[in-house]
Amino acid sequence: ARDATALALWLRHANAMFANEQAALNALDAAIGDGDHGANLARGFAKVVTKLDEATQATPAALFKLAGMTLIGTVGGASGPLYGTFFLEAAKAAGDAATLDDAALAACLRAGLAGVRARGKAEPGDKTMVDALIPAIAVLDGGGSLAKAAEAARDGAEATKPIVARKGRASYLGERAIGHVDPGATSSAMLLACLAEAS
Ligand code: ADP
Ligand code: MG
Ligand code: MG
Repeated sequence: ARDATALALWLRHANAMFANEQAALNALDAAIGDGDHGANLARGFAKVVTKLDEATQATPAALFKLAGMTLIGTVGGASGPLYGTFFLEAAKAAGDAATLDDAALAACLRAGLAGVRARGKAEPGDKTMVDALIPAIAVLDGGGSLAKAAEAARDGAEATKPIVARKGRASYLGERAIGHVDPGATSSAMLLACLAEAS
């Protein structure tokens, strides 16, 4: 079971990941959006880590809430409120537990996905972050590991390449979005890969 300090490692990993992959995510977004997705997430997760360095969070819920509020406040764009909602809903699902076992962590991720879907109204196949998150949660629901879930998310992100977008900026491009992987699906897969590594 993971306490808040252990789960903070996830967010620290994510910060390092998005710092490293900032240019690659910007490039994906430049192809079908406005080219800022990597910069948005790098800025947001850097701020999350700054706050983690300032104070230890007592519970997983407090950690997730801090992440959600910080991402909403610093990421901007379409993805900021969506990733923010993901963590705020995960916080609610965590309740006042001091630690999260595999099932409780899966419940948090499931609640996060539900929040993203409620807020963004994206359906599967709309070429968004949801296309990475849905198959990952399905793996967890089936009793699969976080590593398998992260793999499913990566496959889900890859599967956004041949399709048109129905949500976000890329939806303005129509068929011109075909042949490009969705940046948000890619970042969601990265986020889950970091969780699998940190756990
Ligand atoms: P912006 O497009 O405002 O510049 P970002 O570049 O940070 O914001 O994020 C773009 C990503 O947000 C897209 O690649 C897509 O995955 C995701 N996205 C956009 N709209 C939605 C939505 N309604 N539901 C889920 N994800 C969305
Ligand atoms: Mg963008
Ligand atoms: Mg933007």
